[in-house]
Amino acid sequence: MQNSSCLRLASRMNALEPSATLAMAARAQALAAAGADVVDLSVGEPDFPTPAHICRAAEAAIAAGKTKYTPAAGIPDLRKAVAADFTRRTGLPATPAQVVVSNGAKHSLHNAFTALLDAGDEVIVPTPYWVSYAELIKLAGAKPVLIETKIEDDFKLRPEALQAALTPRTRMLLLCSPSNPTGVVYSAAELTALADIAIEADIAVVADEIYDQLVFDGRPEISFPTLRPGLADRTVVVAGVSKTYSMTGWRIGWTIAPEPLSKAIANLQSQETSNPCSVSQHAALAALTGPQECVAEMRREFQQRRDLVAGRLRAMPGVQLPEIGGAFYAFFDIRTPLARSAARGIATSLQWCEALLEHEKVALVAGSAFGAEGHVRMSFAASTEKLTQGLDRIERFLTG
Ligand code: PMP
Ligand code: GLU
Repeated sequence: MQNSSCLRLASRMNALEPSATLAMAARAQALAAAGADVVDLSVGEPDFPTPAHICRAAEAAIAAGKTKYTPAAGIPDLRKAVAADFTRRTGLPATPAQVVVSNGAKHSLHNAFTALLDAGDEVIVPTPYWVSYAELIKLAGAKPVLIETKIEDDFKLRPEALQAALTPRTRMLLLCSPSNPTGVVYSAAELTALADIAIEADIAVVADEIYDQLVFDGRPEISFPTLRPGLADRTVVVAGVSKTYSMTGWRIGWTIAPEPLSKAIANLQSQETSNPCSVSQHAALAALTGPQECVAEMRREFQQRRDLVAGRLRAMPGVQLPEIGGAFYAFFDIRTPLARSAARGIATSLQWCEALLEHEKVALVAGSAFGAEGHVRMSFAASTEKLTQGLDRIERFLTG
């Protein structure tokens, strides 16, 4: 069936790409449903069940009839808990009025961009970047300015590169540490150097800290606005429960921002989506206020998997990867293997991922989806058994 011409799409839809991570996950799931023995390492989703005490809080919320609209920005107790948890972990004062709870951190990012960006505004986005940033910025009518970072620099944005990218239209810098897709974690000194440029240039910063507690080797948790006095006045912190508490399907994320901006975001949300799911909010409240051992347990498990994955990948021919300090991704350079396989028609990261899925039934995501051709992303949010199976197959594909 065709769209009738009256259903022609708005121009903003023309350049909109579907989420490559979700698309690859859907393909892997379809193959598995058809009976194929697929090792799906595409999507970034913790494989642990949501901790039982969190599920019980949701059941109790349903039983207590907490199934109605809530204030658009979230129930007061949850906004209070988000602010208190942030202050406890970072030392930075935050009030409930600075918090807007949304339908996942992706929605929080959309809110921040929509509330702040005008047509033609530029947002500096270091590449490799998480798939949705550029699309969400474009949807807000603004322009993502992609700044390439190099594996030699551990895929970190250098202050000189940020300085050189500034124009009179620059409104915002987007940072993600620990990073999806690279797993790289900036040091406090590296972030402070970027903060000083943002202050000097008077631009806003969106700090995507969704992986804030998933840091390895005893690294400290660093929240961007803590790094300089007054930095919180120009920063929107984006975070949520999806990764920290293995709650991806519950769809709860939030922004922490100065009060006037938070009010604007709450207004926007009241018109666009109303409140996030009431039951999920009660689950998130239990996550933040309940026992925190589950977070440390998952972190330990992810660190062990990181050791396995990084060790195995580094030993594979022609593969390079940066130091993975957090999150649950390995982003590796396959330019050398691609140069060898180009004659067989496997010259791009997408072709490589397609061929890997076809021949070895392993699903990874092509670096091109993250603005970094010549690389691929592997999620290690999977069991050790699955990871070992996947790594064995990747090795066979690379050496075959
Ligand atoms: N930011 C980053 C860097 C992510 O990896 C994700 C995971 N999808 C999100 C935001 C969105 O998280 P959520 O599932 O809470 O929307
Ligand atoms: N953050 C995850 C990933 O990058 C979830 C997928 C998505 O939200 O696009 O794989």
